[in-house]
Amino acid sequence: MKDYNKNDTIASLSTPEGRGAIAIVRVSGENSFEIVKRFFDFKLKVDKIESRKVYLGYWTDNEGLVDEVQVIFFKGKNTFTGEDLVEIYSHGGYAIPALILESILSGGARQSLPGEMTYRAYLNGKIDLVKSQAINDIINSKTSYSARFLARNLKGSFSDFITEMRRKILNLSASVEVQIDYPDEEFEEREISEIATSMESILNELEKVIDKSEMGMIIKRGVPVVIAGKPNVGKSTIMNRLLKQDRAIVTDVPGTTRDFIEEELNIKGVYVKLTDTAGLRGTDDVVEKIGIEKTLDKIQNSNLVVYIIDIERGIDEYDINILTNLGDKRVVLVLNKADKTTQKKVDKLRTDLLEIHNYDSIVVTSALSEKGVYDLENAIYEVLSILVKVDEDTYITNDLQKNYIKKVYSRIKNSFKALEEGITVDVIAQDLRECVELFDSLTGRSYDEDLSDTIFSNFCVGK
Ligand code: GDP
Repeated sequence: MKDYNKNDTIASLSTPEGRGAIAIVRVSGENSFEIVKRFFDFKLKVDKIESRKVYLGYWTDNEGLVDEVQVIFFKGKNTFTGEDLVEIYSHGGYAIPALILESILSGGARQSLPGEMTYRAYLNGKIDLVKSQAINDIINSKTSYSARFLARNLKGSFSDFITEMRRKILNLSASVEVQIDYPDEEFEEREISEIATSMESILNELEKVIDKSEMGMIIKRGVPVVIAGKPNVGKSTIMNRLLKQDRAIVTDVPGTTRDFIEEELNIKGVYVKLTDTAGLRGTDDVVEKIGIEKTLDKIQNSNLVVYIIDIERGIDEYDINILTNLGDKRVVLVLNKADKTTQKKVDKLRTDLLEIHNYDSIVVTSALSEKGVYDLENAIYEVLSILVKVDEDTYITNDLQKNYIKKVYSRIKNSFKALEEGITVDVIAQDLRECVELFDSLTGRSYDEDLSDTIFSNFCVGK
């Protein structure tokens, strides 16, 4: 937000454009009451406006009547942005909200930038940077489970964690600085061991949060699930069934789905990124060879593999190769095309397959007629619910937070080593000071322009 005047009165449509019962235009800044008053309910005097009261009246621009609207004036500083704020509730659709916004802009307000309302809230001390990111996260969350999970940081789970860690590190820092101030005194054994103990406990807490960050991020970004199996076993058909719409290309010619098709899926509230892979089979064809390598790569980076086998064709060397190389990857095995075969074959195949890998479940389907697809969805959900099971702890939900916590971790680790090796206390003190600075730029307690630019530029306009 480098180049923009923080004193401007800003305005924007805060609800999505398009048909809808109502739309909300927001105006924030010093002149917001004055500007809105020019177009709304002329009898009302600005100095008589009551904060937080709902006013019903007509919106009239220079060309005449626009709409009947409700307006709430919020007197700063106790508002979302921390300054005077007005919300205009008009009827929805494309035209009316646009006309209202236009009149406000013609009255002297500036169109707000993406995230600028939240940025003001941050600048005016209403929320910290971590909470700002949480607001953006819940707006962008696609399923109920991830939304509820991300709301924790809205309530301050991660901010509280940082505040607590910062306090502990400051305490530690104080005990170390004493040694710098009074260098003649011996750094007593007991003090050293006390400092080492608190360092260890801080390291443990940070480590726990870093370890769990993966979980936080997959809940937010979608759990990567890969559909794999030889060509023509029914991967695309199954993916379509799961998506309940025909988007992946279904074809009779083996190997045509060479590139990956990635789709987003909501399985009982869990956000899933589903990838349909290229045909997994040994071949001389160069393009397919690359495809196979990429597929194995995808499997590597996924949390769950849905591996499909055509019952009638059975398994060959290739399936065995893949399945034996899945390590501890979670696998839902699908025996497809049940309509084209006999129960005897299903049973035999199941017995053979059980000798190869320990699957989370084996589901028999006939994707063509949708038979078994419901069971497959349940089987996938069962694994997902284990993969995204969270407890009351703090969770990091983005790389930026993770990197900062990792930096703090490595500095404390350095200090711990330095302490053990008897290195001078000023080196340790320096590391600890840096940790506090890192926390402060992460929460925005100390202002870091580049960081806030990065964060707010990802927001949508009007937020
Ligand atoms: P992919 O190459 O693994 O993605 O396989 P596709 O989904 O393209 O399917 C290959 C062919 O098998 C298509 O003709 C599908 O209609 C057919 N197919 C898929 N599932 C079934 C099924 O359960 N039963 C039968 N009979 N045919 C199926």
